[in-house]
Amino acid sequence: MFRQKIDNIKNRILNWKYSRTVGVVMLIAILVGISFRVNMLRGSDVYAKAEISEELTERKDAVKRDEVEPSDQTTQVLPVAKKGETIMNTADVKDKANFYAVEFTEESEIFTRIKGKSYKDNCTVPLSDLRYLHVLHVGFDGKTHDGEIICNKYIADDLLEIFEELYEAKYPIEKIKLVDEYDADDEASMADNNSSSFNFRYISYTTKISKHGYGLAMDINTLYNPYVKTVNGKLSIEPANAADYVDRSKDFDYKIDEDDLAYKLFIAHGFEWGGSWKSSKDYQHFEVPDSVVKTLYK
Ligand SMILES: [Zn+2]
Repeated sequence: MFRQKIDNIKNRILNWKYSRTVGVVMLIAILVGISFRVNMLRGSDVYAKAEISEELTERKDAVKRDEVEPSDQTTQVLPVAKKGETIMNTADVKDKANFYAVEFTEESEIFTRIKGKSYKDNCTVPLSDLRYLHVLHVGFDGKTHDGEIICNKYIADDLLEIFEELYEAKYPIEKIKLVDEYDADDEASMADNNSSSFNFRYISYTTKISKHGYGLAMDINTLYNPYVKTVNGKLSIEPANAADYVDRSKDFDYKIDEDDLAYKLFIAHGFEWGGSWKSSKDYQHFEVPDSVVKTLYK
């Protein structure tokens, strides 16, 4: 365009035989015009760039704000209480969305799952003393699984804290299901390597309620950590399919001993370990001491 103009002017200058001075003045005027135009464009370009950068900064700030504020809402979808249920948020756990306790009444769906099974008709422990716990655990497949426990309210917070620490440490626990999924059959639950707490029952041949009957004991990885005792000179193993894991001097996976993390955590929370017993050994079993049970249930 400009080159054409300049050529035209040059031609005119030549054709019209204008003086050299006029030509020079006109050329300067054109060049100044071009230069002014270019500067104008550059100027507006700079201005536009400044505007975009300002906009980006604003957007970045907005992203930062988004990251800080709603993150708690997105990662912590807190459980919602259903009919006959109260979520207990008093536990000292970090992940309250996944590690929580529920107080429940006969109106709750939880009760329908345990009624006549672990919560037998002759159960003397009031329902209000029990808590349903939801936890996460790392299975033998290395993946995260949901876990369900019914226990006494007295140990609910301890169990939530212990299971959260076990989960964070990727401590492998194969199954944490309600014993009711095995029709409250302890042997079936143990044989399936299920970890559980509450199951109302009396200690054999007595009117004394067992610690599992109060929900004041917890069994972990039951198949690999059996209950071993001698009855009438004969070795009794519970579950019966755990014979390979009776010899504790052997090295095998999922073995609970005094170096084990579950052992350390339960002991730190005031539990006693069945593996320390003298007359029998219950390697899977952690319970509240007798003295505490006596103060809770006279
Ligand atoms: Zn037990």
